[in-house]
Amino acid sequence: MSRKKDDGIKRVSFEEAFPSIEDVTIEIKQGIARGGWVKYSHLGVTEIGDFIPCDEASCSGGGLRLGDVLHRMIRDREEYVDAFVQCGGHYRSRASCQNAFQYKVRIKFRAP
Ligand SMILES: [Zn+2]
Repeated sequence: MSRKKDDGIKRVSFEEAFPSIEDVTIEIKQGIARGGWVKYSHLGVTEIGDFIPCDEASCSGGGLRLGDVLHRMIRDREEYVDAFVQCGGHYRSRASCQNAFQYKVRIKFRAP
């Protein structure tokens, strides 16, 4: 496996990626019947990718584009989002992946 330079899933700190955010709390749950909330990050404590891969081992093309969620929230100055989205991936059989993501994101913006 070669390391691609810009594959869109690089990991950066929140400070680098989102300078307008003072603090952020992200909780993500995936899987229909299993698993609890995974608390990912408080700013400066944990790094997080802007892409959360799908838990389903046989899924391809799926996952949650967390970076898109954050960028949209920042654009709209939205402080809290609680959403449920179906994984957009598919299995080898071409059937749609049955996994889903629920995420809660709370952002504290820096004063302008
Ligand atoms: Zn999936």
